[in-house]
Amino acid sequence: MDKFDVIIAGAGTGGSLAARTVAEAGFRVCFLDRKKRADIGKKVCGDAIGRHHFSNLGLKEPTSDEVECFMEGVEIYSPDQKTSYVVKGEELYGFVLNRHRFGQRLITEAEDAGAVLYDQTQVLDPILEAERVCGVKTKNLKTQSEKTLRGSLVIEASGFMAALRKKLPPNLGIDRTVDNQDVEACYREIRSLNRALDDKTLCQIYLNQTTTPGGYYWVFPKKGNRVNVGLGVAMVKGFPRPKDQLYQHVLSQPLFAGSSIIEGGAWYVPTRRPLNSMVGNGVLVVGDAACQVNPIHGGGIGPSMIGGKLAGETAVKALQEGILTREALWEYNTRYISDYGAKQAGLEVFRILLQSVSDEDLNYGMHHRLLTEEDLLKASLGDDIHFSITEKARRVFKGLKNITFLRKLRNTSKLIREVKSWYQNYPSSPAGFEKWKTRTDELFKKTLDQLTK
Ligand SMILES: Cc1cc2nc3c(=O)[nH]c(=O)nc-3n(C[C@H](O)[C@H](O)[C@H](O)COP(=O)(O)OP(=O)(O)OC[C@H]3O[C@@H](n4cnc5c(N)ncnc54)[C@H](O)[C@@H]3O)c2cc1C
Repeated sequence: MDKFDVIIAGAGTGGSLAARTVAEAGFRVCFLDRKKRADIGKKVCGDAIGRHHFSNLGLKEPTSDEVECFMEGVEIYSPDQKTSYVVKGEELYGFVLNRHRFGQRLITEAEDAGAVLYDQTQVLDPILEAERVCGVKTKNLKTQSEKTLRGSLVIEASGFMAALRKKLPPNLGIDRTVDNQDVEACYREIRSLNRALDDKTLCQIYLNQTTTPGGYYWVFPKKGNRVNVGLGVAMVKGFPRPKDQLYQHVLSQPLFAGSSIIEGGAWYVPTRRPLNSMVGNGVLVVGDAACQVNPIHGGGIGPSMIGGKLAGETAVKALQEGILTREALWEYNTRYISDYGAKQAGLEVFRILLQSVSDEDLNYGMHHRLLTEEDLLKASLGDDIHFSITEKARRVFKGLKNITFLRKLRNTSKLIREVKSWYQNYPSSPAGFEKWKTRTDELFKKTLDQLTK
């Protein structure tokens, strides 16, 4: 039986950052992935990441062979495509990554720091003793043999499927399930076009409730004539198959005439606030497994790395102090919530608004600039939004049949501020957690009532 200080399930962006952080502090850490080492980093993704994540995390920026394109901003199209906003700003500078190479770099950096990678190793179950996670049961996918690994701490970083989180006993205090309505089902392809995109510094986003109910479709530039094109739809009852939507409504457009597929794949992304608590006795949860994703655009590479680093640092501190309880690990919750989680919660409110607005209202709102580039920039960054509901806008709205849109916009600004300020009250220890959770659930129920009815 092998024994480690920390065992990490998953060697994606979250798991790799956690592994490196723990290894750099000199602790024995292993990270496990069911993929072959050479395949780690191949992920169904839009591959875009803001540059600010690298400076915030103190991470080396991607090298030229890890970058497909340099991004200066985003171009967002209204459903009728008659209005488009180019949203630029230093905060939106970034990269469209070669995701595979970037993932390979992150595991190499973790290994160089001393972390041990077990590839082709599936994590099956958490091992618990005295109501504390103290290891994992694994299966070697080459030999099919099963083995138990023991660790003082376990970090769950296995992505959306959350192999461990779903099997944790409820009394550990970590939610095991995520509502389907908070998940986007996605399908994306890497395609080669007949010609390169006109502007390869912008990532294009198309809002359209008919093609992508509750989501959007995107066309992101890659090297040469290649693009990353895909879409996501909210997983509410009767949602359409994403691949069918892409073929029927997107790839049928003139831009894709004569294009060819290089690779394609489907996956999921949680688009909600982070889990209410991401720690339990002996365990921390990071990345998609903890719902650490921007709820508006589904960007989770940066947040998963934030989660990985913070979880790693918390694990190190707990190991140094020799206390591995939920209380001792709680600091990871508070640090993540104040770093990115509170923003996510505010953005979930904005997501609920966008999902409840009809194409007609969105066309109208964008055309008359009731939602501006600045609103969308702020929204994507998680800043406060004050929709420009000026007198002029009010007059414009008088001509609009559906006045509820105006009410919704007003309510959204208020609700975002309320939710974000409520997140400032995130409890500093597990003591106040149940009360906080109850109020949080009430706030989001109120949000749904006000914005969707
Ligand atoms: C279609 C799509 C487009 C996206 N576009 C973007 C984008 O443009 N920008 C952005 O920032 N984010 C994007 N995201 C989100 C982003 O990909 C994720 O948020 C991010 O990869 C999460 O990292 P992670 O480390 O938590 O999980 P992952 O990257 O999924 O890593 C989890 C790892 O765990 C391994 N694993 C899973 N189960 C087990 C198991 N039982 N045992 C062992 N190993 C296991 C997997 O093989 C994987 O390597 C997109 C997501 C989708 C689905």
